[in-house]
Amino acid sequence: MLSFPVYNRGLVYHKVSEKLELGLTTTTPTQFKTQMLALKRLGFMFSTIDKNNPEMHQIMITFDDGYSSIMDYAAPILDEVGGVATVFAITDYIGKKNSWDYFTKDKQVDHMSWGHLRQLKNLGWEIGSHGRSHKRMINLSIKSIQDELESSKKEIEDKVGAEVSTFCPPFNAWNSELLLLIEEAGYNKVAISYPLNGLPNWAGEFIPRQGVYLHDSMPLFLAKLFANPLAPIAVLQQQIINLVGNGKILENWLKHSRA
Ligand SMILES: [Zn+2]
Repeated sequence: MLSFPVYNRGLVYHKVSEKLELGLTTTTPTQFKTQMLALKRLGFMFSTIDKNNPEMHQIMITFDDGYSSIMDYAAPILDEVGGVATVFAITDYIGKKNSWDYFTKDKQVDHMSWGHLRQLKNLGWEIGSHGRSHKRMINLSIKSIQDELESSKKEIEDKVGAEVSTFCPPFNAWNSELLLLIEEAGYNKVAISYPLNGLPNWAGEFIPRQGVYLHDSMPLFLAKLFANPLAPIAVLQQQIINLVGNGKILENWLKHSRA
């Protein structure tokens, strides 16, 4: 069998649920389990971002937004394979519905509670910050950005009881100015998405990730990690999904500004 080098060790999931009407960013529990078993069979170990050792054959599973379906489905599956993960929580929405996501108004789902996050921390998971409100941070004033970064970090640290060192910018929207503020707020790692397109100098560490989506076949899933002939397609897929996400924000903004 041909073997390909590993080019990426970070994966992003959002919801892991049977409720498929929730869209592309949902993975079914069966898919998730198949993927985790495949990683284990390939000899990967699972690590959080904050405890990752690049010298080891480790994979970093991450969950953006902190949905309660992660607690219900993903955590037991990861436990079966001896894995841990990093969850990026949105602090103003912990224990609440995802009303920040205007695309799912009629199909809102629950975020995890503080109790859930503490349980995961006790299992060895990392709880990172995804900000307070899931706003596109590069559009906010410096004062609001500082508040998003500092208050979310402090609230997680106070209520979960573990240091928060990784920040994940909502909508993967970041620039050099935001990176400086992230560093000033006391984070030393930032979780971002492919494509990378040349990363700027930054005192902290970039954690690149590829998203996993509902229609990913096993070959496409593996192409998110291994530099095989399908890998450029996996990166292109991520690029398209990023653009669709940003397009939706623009569309919504136009709708609101007309109203
Ligand atoms: Zn998010």
